[in-house]
Amino acid sequence: MTLDAVLTRIDDDLPLALDRLMTFLRIPSISTDPAYAAECARAADWLAEDLRGIGFDAAPRTTPGHPMVMGKGGESGPRVLFYGHYDVQPVDPLDLWDRDPFDPAIEDTPKGKVIRARGACDDKGQLMTFVEACRAWKAVHGTLPARITMFFEGEEESGSPSLVPFLQENRTELDADIALICDTGLFGEDRPAIVTMLRGLLGEEVTVTGPSKDLHSGMFGGPAMNPIRALARAIAALHDDSGRVTVPGFYDGVPELPETVAQQWRDLGFDAGQFLGEVGLSTPAGEADRTALEMIWSRPTCEVNGIQGGYTGAGFKTVLPSQASAKISFRLVGDQDPLAIRESFRAMFRGMMPPDCSVEFSDHGASHASQMSIDDPAFEKARLALSDEWPKPAAFVGCGGSIPVAGHFKEILGLESMLIGFGKDDDAIHSPNEKYDLDSFHRGIRSWARILAALAD
Ligand SMILES: [Zn+2]
Repeated sequence: MTLDAVLTRIDDDLPLALDRLMTFLRIPSISTDPAYAAECARAADWLAEDLRGIGFDAAPRTTPGHPMVMGKGGESGPRVLFYGHYDVQPVDPLDLWDRDPFDPAIEDTPKGKVIRARGACDDKGQLMTFVEACRAWKAVHGTLPARITMFFEGEEESGSPSLVPFLQENRTELDADIALICDTGLFGEDRPAIVTMLRGLLGEEVTVTGPSKDLHSGMFGGPAMNPIRALARAIAALHDDSGRVTVPGFYDGVPELPETVAQQWRDLGFDAGQFLGEVGLSTPAGEADRTALEMIWSRPTCEVNGIQGGYTGAGFKTVLPSQASAKISFRLVGDQDPLAIRESFRAMFRGMMPPDCSVEFSDHGASHASQMSIDDPAFEKARLALSDEWPKPAAFVGCGGSIPVAGHFKEILGLESMLIGFGKDDDAIHSPNEKYDLDSFHRGIRSWARILAALAD
């Protein structure tokens, strides 16, 4: 089945694809606000009907929250699970929008045409790139190049409460060879990226207790142990002078970057000075022998996110407090075991407490990192297909934050995910005046057509 005819069809059909996206964007499917529940259902219905129009066996599926949309199409070829989400973020503050967020428009900007609306990028515009690629393929060849399961969520922007149970209950139906997730961005302006590593997260709150009540530092200062001093000493010991985390066993399961990926990262031309300069900094503060990009994507971290104790109001008070506390988080990579690190961290802290100080811990979540095994040939096929479409060759990249759905696909469905998206840093997702570049939408559709062809090959 030839690809060229499909690409031509995509180019010719672009005005109609835009009309469909505009219709979709007019539905205010804000998932977090119960007032919009009917609109979320309407968006799910619209999507299911659109999929049926391309020959998918598709329907909304009820959950305790907003519906999922599932659709099956294609008779032969690799089995692909495609994920996107039809819900959007709230639009407040509305007065910062230059237009009604649910009255989409094509606008001319100095950098080209953009689609302006809530959800234009995140994630309606992005998910429609894949739907449109399937539509063009079906129109040209009468069939699809793969056996495709469409899977659209309506609660991504409100914590995905129904996702895990739904995946567990529908494991068989969702079974596939590979998952494709379209909810991420390009690297810079014109280089496509496949996210293959997502950091996990461990959150801990520590409370150190010293004296049984707050004391006067004139009366007790000296003999009485100050819990802020004990806490500060333990926190200061979490990193050594080379920026490494000192929690015993912390680096167990941290993999080294394969040389092919390391080279791709060097070729990205990432400018650490500019990256830090934008936030008023100049010198990378992580592990001394690592690049800034490694620090964000492929190395674990420990950060103190908050610290309190004693008197912090206006003026001054010579208090020697009873308690001091801190919130501490760890970004995890590779096969690091969050629970083992929690235990090791707690033991280290306990061991550092001086006489008369006790420490208590409360946990704020623990999730593994997701590391895709790019040995699966599908990854390199997709990378080459993307490189054919965009000005710069595609790269396997990391993501410093977390995208939980990829982890759930791996743990529950046993699937590797390719996270491929066409958003840009200035798309203002979650903010007023969200946009999606028309060029991203167009090339995004063409990219998926190329990737499907490559996967089927
Ligand atoms: Zn999203």
